[in-house]
Amino acid sequence: MVSNTRIAVAHGNGIGPEIMDATLRILDAAGARIEIDTVEIGEDVYKKGVLTGIEDSTWDTLRRNKVFLKAPITTPQGGGFKSLNVTIRKTLGLFANVRPCSSYHPQIKTLHPNMDMVIIRENEEDLYGGVEYRQTQQTACSVKLISRPGSERIVRYAFEYARCNGRKKVTCMSKDNIMKIADGLFHRTFDEIGKEYPDIEQEHYIIDIGSARIASRPTDFDVIVTENLYGDIISDIAAEVTGSVGLCGSANIGADFAMFEAIHGSAPDIAGQGIANPSGLLLGAVMMCVHIGQGDVAETVHNAWLKTIEDGIHTGEIFREGVSTQRVGTKEFADAVIERLGQKPTKLTPASYPPDAGAMTLPPLKEVTREDKKLVGVDVYLDWSKGTPDDLAAQVQAVLPSELSLNIIDNRGTKVWPDGLPETFCCDQWRLRLNGADGFSASSIPLALSALNEAGFETIKTENLYTFDGERGWTKAQGE
Ligand code: NAD
Repeated sequence: MVSNTRIAVAHGNGIGPEIMDATLRILDAAGARIEIDTVEIGEDVYKKGVLTGIEDSTWDTLRRNKVFLKAPITTPQGGGFKSLNVTIRKTLGLFANVRPCSSYHPQIKTLHPNMDMVIIRENEEDLYGGVEYRQTQQTACSVKLISRPGSERIVRYAFEYARCNGRKKVTCMSKDNIMKIADGLFHRTFDEIGKEYPDIEQEHYIIDIGSARIASRPTDFDVIVTENLYGDIISDIAAEVTGSVGLCGSANIGADFAMFEAIHGSAPDIAGQGIANPSGLLLGAVMMCVHIGQGDVAETVHNAWLKTIEDGIHTGEIFREGVSTQRVGTKEFADAVIERLGQKPTKLTPASYPPDAGAMTLPPLKEVTREDKKLVGVDVYLDWSKGTPDDLAAQVQAVLPSELSLNIIDNRGTKVWPDGLPETFCCDQWRLRLNGADGFSASSIPLALSALNEAGFETIKTENLYTFDGERGWTKAQGE
């Protein structure tokens, strides 16, 4: 006899407990072979004094079970504890976030009746590193980090996913016209790994027009692979275009662990009213059943859900007079799905999960040749508000050690010296680009910092300038 799979379940905040209750009742009625360890994370844990919002014993449960079904969690805005969703994804190495978005025309009103795309979002890097600083009175800074292995893993995952799921095309979205190094690395990795998948059509969009096209012509897309922030934004757009953000589930997949959830948040505006749509979390749970080898349960639940939608039994946010037949709350919607277990839709395409669905093995990361890395200069950032760029240049040049020469000064990435324009607005954060001259080495940098600090400047950060196989490893300033 096959033993049950133990999963961890968190009921979350806001509408979380309502939609989780509905989801678990449906899974139970469908005969899901699971055993549940309930864990508590988020607001309530934080209020108990656990400042990370997650207790050590919860990490133990997650690591033991390796599969986690999670309702949305409220994340405080602009302060408070860090996003637990992001913490869990990163700590457990859940590098791929898979978000299928389809329309259910004509049962759910949508501008695009034939939409069927899967967004595969990089889940650990980018601005979601959450590495942020205040350096001056006037500025705040977030660090965007893109790695080669991170990009390779997600790009490879997208191509393998396309192959395993009979998808024909993978579209990469990035902003490498502006972020030439970071987004450039992501795009280049896509082009390189893509060569190993000649059977899959491939293309690249700049993220701004890509997002617009998702809203206006979503049928142009099949599988989309993109960075963390872009993926977060476009999957909400795509979900809303299908009819509601409440309709899409998401899988967070790593080498050893997986977490399943809805794409939407805790919806505090409708919490406790019993009106939330449990579909996103339920479809996340369907993906979980596929992942744990219970494709039969996934198929039963998914088809009962499609039949419920097809029969016009809709929660308030997708209810439309003349199309829907019954407006229901969360609990009644779950009851309707349970009544339809064993049925299939007749107008919408039924779901089908073969026994090997979900089985996907990724090859190891490629060996990358190490490039020759050479230190050639340093950028020094200052907090300064005592004059013009020309004043700053003269004062800096007067104290710099001879191994470094002042190349340019910029303010927020725009060159202001030499030959800056008076129209360029300057705030209190300045960057001095110092080129290495004769005798320059890493030990010249602290000498330059000491000289600047002794002259009364406040140095707030440095960034070394390297070449890689002779190629510049930094971007030029605007106007340089
Ligand atoms: P949200 O997704 O919670 O809500 C956006 C809008 O969609 C609201 O009007 C809401 O009522 C509606 N909505 C969302 N889910 C719905 C559903 N199932 N049925 C019907 N309507 C639904 O986004 P938000 O308001 O920006 O975020 C609220 C909180 O959720 C924040 O603290 C945020 O950080 C958090 N959040 C958590 C997750 C997660 O746990 N993975 C994801 C996104 C946001």
